[in-house]
Amino acid sequence: MREALRVAMERGGDPSLAPIGCVIVLDGKVVARERNHVEDKCDVSAHAEIEALRAAGKGRKNGELRGATVYTTLQPCGMCTMALIWAKVARIVYGAGRVDVNSLYFEARHIDTLDFVAQAYREDISIEGGLLREECAQLYWRPWDKPPGAQKANL
Ligand SMILES: [Zn+2]
Repeated sequence: MREALRVAMERGGDPSLAPIGCVIVLDGKVVARERNHVEDKCDVSAHAEIEALRAAGKGRKNGELRGATVYTTLQPCGMCTMALIWAKVARIVYGAGRVDVNSLYFEARHIDTLDFVAQAYREDISIEGGLLREECAQLYWRPWDKPPGAQKANL
């Protein structure tokens, strides 16, 4: 998670830069380390986790990451959670969760991405949060912040 934090802050820790980092470990080796590239690639799907999945798949010439552990600084969104499920990772570990950050980062309604893991598709995947929670949460708009309207991607 410390490496995911380092990657997240490559361009600085300003929350307006969406500094999210993701590291994928497989068989004891880091197979990908990526940050959010939504702005610089003009690609709404270029979340850190998706970028890391792409890098790991390309590097290994195999997009299936069975047995991998994914470390990400923020609880993965619905898109990334589903992609991680399809990649067949074994374990998702995140830092800050939805209660630690502003609601702009998550689904506007009651469905929680954790439900995807708990109730859908597979029994052999785990998700756990809170690793370096406070250090990760400090990168983002907090629940009490009033971020600029343009930052509210979920509205
Ligand atoms: Zn995402």
